[in-house]
Amino acid sequence: MKPDSAPQALLDAVDGDAMLREVQEWAAINTGTANIAGLDTMAGVLADAFSALPGAVELVDPAPVTAISADGHEFEKPHGRHMVLRVRPQAERRFVLTGHMDTVFPVDHPFQQVGWLDDDTLNGPGTADMKGGLDVILHALKLFETVEGSDRVGYDVMINSDEETGSLASRGLIEELARGKYAALTYEPSALPDGTLAHARGGTGNYSITIHGRSAHAGRNPHEGRNAVVAASDLVLRIAALATDDITVNPAKIEGGSANNVVPDLAVLRFNIRPKSTEAMNRFDAQLDAVLAAIKAQHEVGVHRHGGVTRPPKPVDEKAQRLFDLVRDCGAALGQTIGWIPSGGVCDGNNIAACGVPVVDTMGVRGGAIHSPDEFMIVPSLRERAALSALVLTRLSTGDHL
Ligand SMILES: [Zn+2]
Repeated sequence: MKPDSAPQALLDAVDGDAMLREVQEWAAINTGTANIAGLDTMAGVLADAFSALPGAVELVDPAPVTAISADGHEFEKPHGRHMVLRVRPQAERRFVLTGHMDTVFPVDHPFQQVGWLDDDTLNGPGTADMKGGLDVILHALKLFETVEGSDRVGYDVMINSDEETGSLASRGLIEELARGKYAALTYEPSALPDGTLAHARGGTGNYSITIHGRSAHAGRNPHEGRNAVVAASDLVLRIAALATDDITVNPAKIEGGSANNVVPDLAVLRFNIRPKSTEAMNRFDAQLDAVLAAIKAQHEVGVHRHGGVTRPPKPVDEKAQRLFDLVRDCGAALGQTIGWIPSGGVCDGNNIAACGVPVVDTMGVRGGAIHSPDEFMIVPSLRERAALSALVLTRLSTGDHL
């Protein structure tokens, strides 16, 4: 085989018709993050599909996740199972490939159908984000298994059921599978429809702070009350003041309160933060502790903190940059021009990077308008991206460390 013929041979070997058929079938299954029945169906379909690869497929129970209700109570939120495939776990050099089976479209959302926008563009829920990407993983690995030397390396595939709500029920699993891996590839759609990758990402965190005051009559004995709404309002101003150039703080919602003639004894404040750096993330955490202690002391209220950073910031270090360069070079060998831009979004790539593993997290299809009924996938990108990943894995399987 001539040196340049290998990439083209990979591309020629991808069965684009089979890929398209699978994506159409998978997108027709509703997998809104809260649709446990739909996720269960999808997990079964994926387990069957990935059984075509060597190794063992397993459906893993979600980790328990709680949330805070409007009346301040902690309750458990159900989640779907995650799919894990482990191939040659004893190999010294191993990779992890990740994707998610859930979408942002609940079972009662009007956007459920797949349809054509033009000859090359498919519109449908999850086509780009990321059932197309899941199919790219499957076919890239099928192709990779035919490559000489692939049996010297191993890999895990993890497809979670809860990425769109922050991977709270799969975060531990992601970290467990990422640790010790040589490199990671995640199959979010490209950042731009031309195939541009997402580079560095900020992080995100979500908090619910429950404040318990003491109720009293607003006219007769207000001094005996401890006003939870006043304490929550004070808290809003204090956390908003913690925003700086490297972190945004968005107080989003206050729930609670009571009748006009009652000093309210309950308030729940929800807020989101977006740290741009690990330093900003850690600084905010310490500042929040101090602010909550001050609120508690000055307003004589109970304060309960729930939540935190779910996606640490993802800077691109030297090792990760070498992986980006490799993806670009493999793209060039296949006739694909691949660049990158920083992204304001977050994904499982954030959590993988936090484990010290180099990751490129937009290896999925080319597409766009995700999280909207205009979501689309560019169909030829199924083959392009499957060949790209197969080539990247081939190059990663030999040679020096990243
Ligand atoms: Zn996604």
